[in-house]
Amino acid sequence: MKKLSIAMLSMVLAGSMLLTGCGGGNNQAAGENDSADTQQSETAENTDGGVLRMGTNATFPPYEYVDENNEVAGIDADIAAAIAEKLGMELEITDMAFDSLIPALQSDTIDIVLAGMTVDPERAEQVNFTDSYATGVQVIIVPEGSDIASPDDLEGKNIGVQTGTTGDLYCTDDYGQEFVKQFDNGPLAVAALVNGQVDCVVIDNEPAKNYVAANQGLKILDTAYANEEYAAAIAKDNTELFEQVNAAIQELKEDGTIDSIIEKYIPAEGDSEDAAA
Ligand code: GLN
Repeated sequence: MKKLSIAMLSMVLAGSMLLTGCGGGNNQAAGENDSADTQQSETAENTDGGVLRMGTNATFPPYEYVDENNEVAGIDADIAAAIAEKLGMELEITDMAFDSLIPALQSDTIDIVLAGMTVDPERAEQVNFTDSYATGVQVIIVPEGSDIASPDDLEGKNIGVQTGTTGDLYCTDDYGQEFVKQFDNGPLAVAALVNGQVDCVVIDNEPAKNYVAANQGLKILDTAYANEEYAAAIAKDNTELFEQVNAAIQELKEDGTIDSIIEKYIPAEGDSEDAAA
């Protein structure tokens, strides 16, 4: 796997901005829009295929997060790098709000989303989803000692979610909008839980594990809220890229590349503890 060598502006979890120039290339200014920051790989040898502009929301470890070099790293960044390499393209990653990703595809600001994005019928009316490359689980984070023991106990509770995620959509459907408090990202929803502003947070399992590990006094309920599939999303009219990316994903699944990327960040039970996130 080619390591991304990057010059970029990037966003730390809380949304403040750090200016950094790393790697030997041109520093990419991210432009006037402070809600999206772009990093670019410089290393592809054969980039005749042009630039693959990926959008993500890098507050979702281990799928995407800002690493110690202020680069977007994680499972999705690695899978996208492997796809770009197969397509002979240079990967450019833009970090933006999760609920901006589908509009950014539709306005041709980006070519592809890899963001632990769940395949969902309503989204599938707006964008095309590739074959799934991973599974996800919506879980419930509560404070230790909470009276919420399963999804059956959520009625009438204040539920924290990340805006526009499936956790948001499902809880709004199931419990009503007035009980669902939206936050820009998972860490902010979890901070609200720690401060007692919400009773629980519904969010994807792998980032949930990271958030719970980073905060004392929280736990993930054993009973899952929903099981899901993650896939890459591409604009409806971009059928050529869609077919190329889907073929690349199939090859990367068949040759074990995707499994080994996921295993690198989420070691299976019993494996040694060298997770990268
Ligand atoms: N899997 C969830 C969704 O697609 C959350 C993704 C995310 O927050 N990056 O809505």
